[in-house]
Amino acid sequence: MAFILKIKDLPEDVSRQEFVSSPGELSLDYEGVEVIGDVRAYGNVTKSNDQVIFRGEFVAPVRMTCSRCAEEFERNLRSELVFVLTLVPEKDYQELEEEASEDFYFIPEGTQEFDFSGHIREQLIVALEMKPLCREECRGICPDCGKNLNNEECICSEKKIDERWLPLRDLLDRS
Ligand SMILES: [Zn+2]
Ligand SMILES: [Zn+2]
Repeated sequence: MAFILKIKDLPEDVSRQEFVSSPGELSLDYEGVEVIGDVRAYGNVTKSNDQVIFRGEFVAPVRMTCSRCAEEFERNLRSELVFVLTLVPEKDYQELEEEASEDFYFIPEGTQEFDFSGHIREQLIVALEMKPLCREECRGICPDCGKNLNNEECICSEKKIDERWLPLRDLLDRS
């Protein structure tokens, strides 16, 4: 089904729209991230004259790697989805297209369908650029012994404190 807005079929009003796309259809190519299920987008679409406004959100189940402990984890990524399409006369389209920005698109009048997969991919990448954590309180990996501190304790930090006291201990021993 993919993320295709059927502009021609939209009522001149607000309507509720829902879309589903398989990971294959979305084909997100982003290192360290895998889309593991259907991506859903939904929202209210307002059409009036030459403008279509989409206001909603999307949810993508992904598997990614924690930036602190390097373990893989799965999560539903949720993000706002807002974009505006402006239908313009064919003759003005090329000129206007260059002015299009992230959330504002120009499309030639008479366009029947708008594929917003590219927009979803961009939004997903924006959402992914924040450092992913398997959980807020992830304790990460010990820089000294490399143990995953979520699963096991290590004594590296204790040892360090011990080492700091060594000179004092020597001093006490000598006296
Ligand atoms: Zn982690
Ligand atoms: Zn350690």
